[in-house]
Formats: sequence, structure tokens, C-alpha cells
Amino acid sequence: MAGRRHSSAAGSESTGLYAPSELIAILDAYYGRAPAQASGDPMAELVLTLLSQHTSDHNSGRAFHRLLERFPEWDGVIAARTSDVEEAIRPGGLAPTKAPRLQELLAAVRELTPEYDLGFLETMPLEEAKAWLRALPGVGPKTAACVLLFALGRPALPVDTHVDRVSRRLGLVPPKASVEQAHVILEGMLAPDEVYAFHVDLIQHGRRTCHARGPECARCPLLERCPRVGLPPLG
Ligand code: SF4
Repeated sequence: MAGRRHSSAAGSESTGLYAPSELIAILDAYYGRAPAQASGDPMAELVLTLLSQHTSDHNSGRAFHRLLERFPEWDGVIAARTSDVEEAIRPGGLAPTKAPRLQELLAAVRELTPEYDLGFLETMPLEEAKAWLRALPGVGPKTAACVLLFALGRPALPVDTHVDRVSRRLGLVPPKASVEQAHVILEGMLAPDEVYAFHVDLIQHGRRTCHARGPECARCPLLERCPRVGLPPLG
């Protein structure tokens, strides 16, 4: 891992781009950041991540709690009428789409681990753990990384819309790379102990300064060396 980190820093010296360690230091100082705290419950994280697609953390949290109230066991979700699951998760939005997906996902997990115990992912080699999760229906690289990072503290990087956009503008990911490739490229630049900070810092930055429309470059702490890829010149 030390080698990876060295090559990333060396690359930034030759290109002038910010190295991940520099971004973390600047954005930590600018926004502040809560320390990482793994939840230790990968199954709950998997369900929560599915519910969080295309909605706010607040709404997906409400949907998740309503789901647990209504169905204290995962078996109960699978056995329920889809319309009842839909009703339970309605605050999370897109319930007609998410309810059958959730039932399919849980059924696939039960097929592989009848106790819904995903604790083995903590010690499985990282790439194998990602592949195991991604073999589940509806699980892509972002969801797999969320489960591994937030539940188990493993160094997998979820690339959400903010991380993706900010990384491209900063020149860390080529414009034509797919989001899937962005996961590989960015993770390859990061030391394991940088993954959580990088994820959280870039989300903060995307939400608060480097907006999708109208990024506030003039007051951005990264303006000095940001290539602003894809944006018009500053007036
Ligand atoms: S300078 Fe502009 S494009 Fe670059 S990170 Fe800051 S807000 Fe985003």
C-alpha cells in the first residue's frame, strides 16, 4: 500500500494536481470531519444502502426504521406481500421499485447465508468481498463499497454522484471514464487509511461548494491548483 501512495503523490508532483492526502488535509481543515465509526452490521447497511438510492439520508433512515418496525426479521420481508413492503418503505421514495428489489436481494442473501450473517466479509480478501456482494441482485460497486466501508471499516471507496463529479473536475478521473472505472482509479490512488476521509470530504465539498450546477470556484479552497475540468474559464 505504501507503494500505491507513493506513486499517487509522485503523480501529483509532476502534474500539479492535488494528491488525495493534500485534498483530505485541506478539506478537513475547511469543513471539519467526524471520525469514522463502523456500524458493525453489514446486513443492515446493505438494506439501508438500497433504500438510500435517489433519496436523502433522512428519508431512507425513516424508511429503514419503518421497515424494521413492521418486519423485525428479514424472513418476514421476503414472505410479505410486496405491497406491504412498499407501504413500509414509502418515506424513502421509489417504493414500488425498491420493494421488489429488496425482497429479491434478501432472498438471494438467504440462499447464500441462511442466517443473514455477512460478518465473514470482514476478513475475506477485499476484492473477493466486493465480488461476493456484487454478485447479489441490484448491488453495484457503490453499494458494495458502502457495506464494506461503513459497516466493517474496510478500505473500499463508494463513488457517489458528489465524489464522482468533484474527482473529475479535479482531474483525478478522466472525463470519459465510467463510474465503475472511477471506483478503480480513485481507490488505486488512496492509502487504506485515506479512503473514509476522502469519501466524506469530497461529499461535503460537492454538497457545499463544488455543486453540480454553479460550483462556487471563486471561494473554493482548492481553486489554486484545480484544473476545473469541464467548466468554462472563470470570468
Ligand atoms: S475550484 Fe471549482 S471545480 Fe475545482 S473543486 Fe473548487 S468548486 Fe470544484
